[in-house]
Amino acid sequence: MAMSRSPQDARASALLDWYARHRRVLPWRALPGRRADPYHVWLSEIMLQQTTVATVKSYFDHFVARWPRVQDLAAAPLDDVLHAWQGLGYYARARNLHKCARAVATDHGGRFPEIEAELLALPGVGPYTAAAIAAIAFDQPASPVDGNIERVVARLRHIAEPLPAGKKAIQAAARNLTPRARAGDFAQAMMDLGAMVCTPRAPKCGLCPWHDACAARAAGDAEDLPARAARTPKPTRHGVAFWIEDATGRVLLRRRPERGLLGGMMEIPSTDWRDDPWGLDTPLFRRRLGPKSARSATPSPISICA
Ligand code: SF4
Repeated sequence: MAMSRSPQDARASALLDWYARHRRVLPWRALPGRRADPYHVWLSEIMLQQTTVATVKSYFDHFVARWPRVQDLAAAPLDDVLHAWQGLGYYARARNLHKCARAVATDHGGRFPEIEAELLALPGVGPYTAAAIAAIAFDQPASPVDGNIERVVARLRHIAEPLPAGKKAIQAAARNLTPRARAGDFAQAMMDLGAMVCTPRAPKCGLCPWHDACAARAAGDAEDLPARAARTPKPTRHGVAFWIEDATGRVLLRRRPERGLLGGMMEIPSTDWRDDPWGLDTPLFRRRLGPKSARSATPSPISICA
């Protein structure tokens, strides 16, 4: 007697069938039926944080050509890694990337751990990245939830609680949807569905393998989900940056603290950031620098939204 499939299995196989026909070709992805390289999955996931797929592709290719294995990356000088990272921004990611490569090379014999909890203990690996590596590289039944998956699940299940509070319910719903087999393909299929069909604006519901099951499509408000809580306005802060040259034209730079925005990067000196604008008649700016230490010090007030 034929066993009937559960709704969860039927949904998973509809999506996996769609994925077999429409999956994106990405340099870090394994070919159909092949196991992904954990190093490639990890590297791409770190690069993709806050950065688009189109931008990441060439950086990914460059990194794996220059450092083909995680051990090669671990052995590279940090400055070389930071230099290769230039243009991707958020340099704390590059520092953690290097630290993580060293941890994998020295503490794990060059092999990424397979268990989500152990992946989570690696530098720079948060809950999303740990789940993505566990699912995509090792087919563990983990449920990574990135922006694309968040949107698909919120719509499929009609989770109307605004983000960020609604993330918990979306995460729980994603876990419920994840099949025990092929969790990695399932996660990547949801990512692709969100990127190509269940788009933020004008989702192409007519092409969606979950058309009949989707609660937001039935309610006619898919574009409104996921909802977001109103953002608090960002304050404007003011600072002054100094361009200081010595007699030979060398410019004075300093290194930023390791932690925080642009951690460890070089910068020209500046004041603290404060609510009130700095006037150029501030006593601090009237003090002259001696001719030996500097030829010129040009303060330029700037403002940022922090
Ligand atoms: Fe998204 Fe439409 Fe598919 Fe629902 S039916 S998951 S809204 S594309």
